[in-house]
Amino acid sequence: MSKPHLRLSGVHRHYGEGDRMVRVLEAADLEVQSGELVALVAPSGAGKSTLLHLCGLLESPQAGEIEIVGQPTSKLGDRGRTQLRRSTVGYVYQFHHLLPEFTALENVVMPQIIAGKPQKAAEERSMELLDLLGVAPRASHRPAELSGGEQQRVAIARAAANHPRVILADEPTGNLDPETSDLVFEALKSLIRNEGAAALIATHNYDLARRADRIVTIKNGLVVAHTV
Ligand code: ADP
Ligand code: MG
Repeated sequence: MSKPHLRLSGVHRHYGEGDRMVRVLEAADLEVQSGELVALVAPSGAGKSTLLHLCGLLESPQAGEIEIVGQPTSKLGDRGRTQLRRSTVGYVYQFHHLLPEFTALENVVMPQIIAGKPQKAAEERSMELLDLLGVAPRASHRPAELSGGEQQRVAIARAAANHPRVILADEPTGNLDPETSDLVFEALKSLIRNEGAAALIATHNYDLARRADRIVTIKNGLVVAHTV
């Protein structure tokens, strides 16, 4: 079997010190393979966002190793981390953060232009993604003209624009109704399968999580299989 796209081993993350220390992760391990979608279900405050920030190299653990596409990150400096994040990680948030003055297409094109891709190739890639996510007919609309579910699918397309090997989504359906959540989750799933990315999705929605390949939770500082 090939190396997992995402691997955490012995990861410690706490905040504060002394009596006020909040221990979020203590020796946590996790592996996510290419094309695998793992749902992270845990109560509010359990550490879901912390875990995603660590996986996305937005925060560093106090101990342990995080490997992305086989590359250990604990010894990287800020620049190395930023570079690796930009080339390998796509992030989706609960609120889409699309740029309001640009169309759906332009929002997906932009990160590719920043990464140095020619305009035409960037537009082709964007249309392919918008199509895969079922929002191609909305390509020329601005975010304000899109429904919540459409906005979120455009945000997923944007996160996937530069072929990230790891996709992290922090409650991406958190502000959508159940039917729209279903649609967005299924779109995300077909994207993961198509692109062979590894995905970790934090969600409160257990009905959705059941459609992932695996469900994990955070318990006693560890990432463990979720049992009902
Ligand atoms: P979740 O996303 O599951 O709701 P978080 O990862 O946001 O949980 O938070 C986990 C715990 O860590 C909470 O107790 C939270 O208060 C604490 N925490 C998160 N970020 C910080 C921070 N920057 N400083 C201090 N405590 C934090
Ligand atoms: Mg959170």
